Amino acid sequence: MEEKPKSPHILIFPLPCQSHVNSMLKLAEIFGLAGLKVTFLNSKHNHERLIRYTDIHDRFLQYSEFQFKTISDGLPADHPRAGDRLMEIFDSLSLNTRPLLKQMLIDTSPPVSCIIGDACMEFVVDVATELEIPVIHFRAISACSFWAYFSIPEMIQAGELPMKAYDEDMDRLITKVPGMETFLRFRDLPSFCRVSDVTDRDLQVLKNVTQQSPRTHALILNTFEDLEEPILSHIRTKCPKVYTIGPLHLQLKTRLASNVISSSSQKSLNSLWEVDRSCIEWLGKQPVRSVLYVSFGSITLLKREQLIEFWHGLVDSKQRFLWVIRPDSVIGEGDAPAELVEGTKERGHLVSWVPQEEVLAHQAVAGFLTHSGWNSTLESIVAGVPMICWPYFADQQINSRFVSEVWNLGLDMKDVCDRNVVEKMVNDLMVERKEEFMRAADRMATMARTTANEGGPSYCNLDRLIDDIKMMSSLA
Ligand code: UDP
Repeated sequence: MEEKPKSPHILIFPLPCQSHVNSMLKLAEIFGLAGLKVTFLNSKHNHERLIRYTDIHDRFLQYSEFQFKTISDGLPADHPRAGDRLMEIFDSLSLNTRPLLKQMLIDTSPPVSCIIGDACMEFVVDVATELEIPVIHFRAISACSFWAYFSIPEMIQAGELPMKAYDEDMDRLITKVPGMETFLRFRDLPSFCRVSDVTDRDLQVLKNVTQQSPRTHALILNTFEDLEEPILSHIRTKCPKVYTIGPLHLQLKTRLASNVISSSSQKSLNSLWEVDRSCIEWLGKQPVRSVLYVSFGSITLLKREQLIEFWHGLVDSKQRFLWVIRPDSVIGEGDAPAELVEGTKERGHLVSWVPQEEVLAHQAVAGFLTHSGWNSTLESIVAGVPMICWPYFADQQINSRFVSEVWNLGLDMKDVCDRNVVEKMVNDLMVERKEEFMRAADRMATMARTTANEGGPSYCNLDRLIDDIKMMSSLA
């Protein structure tokens, strides 16, 4: 048996989805900058796409202690890995990837001294415990949604879950998520709570993985104290060591900017799709603060009827818009109505994938119609861009409630997809209430910058995390 190392060797293993890979790769890059030895474990499928569409190989070459490894996610190449088939990834990982991970850890030299595991993957803690490797959980969601997931057992016990009837009152208040008693409605709970049976498999998976976090050495959240402090103090009653190190993409920018040897592109694109830069050229021709950016992330699927409702609403609003329609994200076929094509020519631009951080930071952008994925929400907060939220699934339902009700950063359109509502909300955000939302968004963006700057709370927390990891391996 090989001696345990005195200097750390960290294995970072994200759930193989765009948003998880993106944020955990940013953390890995920060560790690379700090000179730590890191192995980043990607699914083969995603790694091939990253290599095809980004410069990650060259970008990470400069970190001499950094390496990529790949592992099979057990799914066939043509599996969509999106929409309602996303949960199949969880089953496949647990069944197929688990034994591969174990063998890989046994074979790795120098041995891994700490795993930063995606908190969505239950089996990682089990394998690590078996091999006596400490685990730190990284949960790529907001603190508010983590806390709602964590409170599922209490909601079940109090009879607040599951749904009581087919015609459930979606607006009834939920009282068993401490800190949210006055504003959290049944419809704002993570989508996996919308079930009529508490033994529902997806609900159980999410409940169980969340309950695992207190068993780990620490929990990392990509959020910041000024944004979610009241909820974080509830989480700390269950998980004593929580590192809030967000917004991670801003931390990486800050650290890259102050690093003299780093030649890394500050945009740090970790995209699984080919970026279409025509959007930047198009934005450059639009007036300042005039464009609504529209994107529903990497997993959302839209039915064709929904696409048409959004399209009508956008065109009828008479506002300029930049809309990402991911390849394969629309279910159903048909020609686009001529009036929509015409309206888009006048004021819109459609693309398949954009450099989102750059788009949100562009001076032409004034609003974001988003599915409220956590990365998109944070990126919008950092850029000071107000949001219209149309949550699709998972944590997005609760993020959108916080955006509209707690942070006053925009409007929540959940559970509605109607051209008139889209038109009205776009005009509310871009015209009627523009100043109000812009002020709130500016304030929050300043807080985000402060926390990620040298000496700010998230910056210091990340330094403490690095010290903690070094300490763990020196004691091993
Ligand atoms: N994204 C991007 N280009 C696009 C659309 C999305 O780079 O055209 C990125 C976005 O910046 C974010 C991620 O994809 O980092 C989406 O993550 P999020 O948590 O918002 O949603 P998910 O895709 O997991 O539903």
